[in-house]
Amino acid sequence: MGDLCQLGEMPGTSRRIERARKEKGLQEKHSKRGGKQVMQCDICGRTTDDDTSYCTYHNMAHDKVQEAFKVWEPALEITWDDYLTRIFDENGLGRWAREVVEHLMQQNDSSK
Ligand SMILES: [Zn+2]
Repeated sequence: MGDLCQLGEMPGTSRRIERARKEKGLQEKHSKRGGKQVMQCDICGRTTDDDTSYCTYHNMAHDKVQEAFKVWEPALEITWDDYLTRIFDENGLGRWAREVVEHLMQQNDSSK
């Protein structure tokens, strides 16, 4: 009999645990947002979503710029600096990417 009672309780118990997990997850997400320092995009000053120095748009553009360098570097044998200068002159470069490239070039200059 004892075994049967345990089995009967199982579904309800697991549902409760699942629900508690979900609620906990939501709370963690909420408190993380509220408790942490607000980061701002280095380029446009928009609030960033996580611990990146760029907002969603500039972060995406930055990823693309870095991705493209992996292709360009072996093909053209250029340095990061040369690459930035080159793609900055590209007409097809998008607005966000251009701002990222400009920002990266300024960073390079100041670090010299
Ligand atoms: Zn931005």
